[in-house]
Amino acid sequence: MKKEISLQIKKEYIRKYKEGYPLISKESIRDISKLEEGCVVQLKDDKNRFIALGYHGIQNKGFGWVLSLAQNEKVNTAFFSKKIKDALEYRNDFFTDTRTTAFRIFNGEGDGVGGLTIDYFDGYYLFTWYSRGIYAFKDVIIEALALHVEYKGIYQKKRFDTKGMYLEDANDFVCGEEAPQPLLVKENYATFAIYLDDGAMVGVFLDQKEVRKTLRDKYARGKTFLNTFSYTGAFSIFASLGGATKTTSVDLAKRSFPKTKEHFEINNIDVKTQDIIVEDVFNYFKFAIRKKRMFDIVVLDPPSFARSKKHTFSASKDYVNLLKETIQITSKNGLIVASTNASNFSMMTFRDFIKKAFKELNIKYKIEESFSLPKDFRVHEKFKEGDYLKVVFIKKLK
Ligand code: SAH
Repeated sequence: MKKEISLQIKKEYIRKYKEGYPLISKESIRDISKLEEGCVVQLKDDKNRFIALGYHGIQNKGFGWVLSLAQNEKVNTAFFSKKIKDALEYRNDFFTDTRTTAFRIFNGEGDGVGGLTIDYFDGYYLFTWYSRGIYAFKDVIIEALALHVEYKGIYQKKRFDTKGMYLEDANDFVCGEEAPQPLLVKENYATFAIYLDDGAMVGVFLDQKEVRKTLRDKYARGKTFLNTFSYTGAFSIFASLGGATKTTSVDLAKRSFPKTKEHFEINNIDVKTQDIIVEDVFNYFKFAIRKKRMFDIVVLDPPSFARSKKHTFSASKDYVNLLKETIQITSKNGLIVASTNASNFSMMTFRDFIKKAFKELNIKYKIEESFSLPKDFRVHEKFKEGDYLKVVFIKKLK
């Protein structure tokens, strides 16, 4: 059994927790001196009355997560088993859909346990632990999953750092059978190469599946396509499968070249007909503007924060400028797919960025559609910050 301790909550925060807010913030706790990561905490009011049960774990977003509002709850295998069972039932359809064999089966606080996500890749399960606190429950949580599914193998990523950075381990394999490298999975009939044991990222961001599908099915045909911050080229693959005449993928990381090439190859697209460019996107924009190179569709998917040799990019500060450069290389009646995973601003603010960028260039636009997280990335109704993804399809008019 994990150590259980009582935590007195400051008066002004009590109501929030009682109403179901799941994130335990440092500021709300009266005395943090007794805390140890991985301990179970009973949140109490000033009269020592029970408010909620949770665990302590330090991650960028806070000091732990509420697990239950019931006083008699025990945080054990049965507890996690119930959460996982609910999570699996919520995604029942995903397991029977043969078009897509990679999706999220457990999304942190959205499924009742903040600080933990579990992704499914064709029989393999990838656990991401966001603090030492939640990692302390590793054995019981894996045991709980095994009560409900037959797995081929289990992998993990540790993101204990307060900035959510990945901790380099000798290996990320936990148990079962080792997955092939790459493991080929399907997403709406397309194929992705997944490397479960090759650093922080496995090859694809599963939260963009609806955006990729929409791009392929509704927009790509006959169009030239620029994919910026392209990583393994997932958007380029979908654009190409949707009939884009040519794709250009730009990413600063050297690994993006072989990984994008591999993605074209396993989808039977001739790589020679596509451009894969390893370069700073900001340089590429300058080059493209100078050369008057235009694209019918541009995908913009920058990290929320990045530092390269010459630039520091922060989505909240620099997105307007990024859009302004993009607008200049987008054809008339072309489409910009503007995406961000920054959780420090809302969809409304993001739309304001778009408005500002077009206004400053005196160009008209129309928003065609927008996206947030897909169904498998379940969001907690009292924790809207968890719905970080914002994607807007913008048509450039004049
Ligand atoms: N759009 C991708 C995911 C992007 S992840 C997808 O859908 O799969 C962010 C990527 O931005 C990383 O691959 C990183 O190498 C790249 N990146 C960060 N700063 C960059 C810069 N200044 N120029 C080009 N690429 C950059």
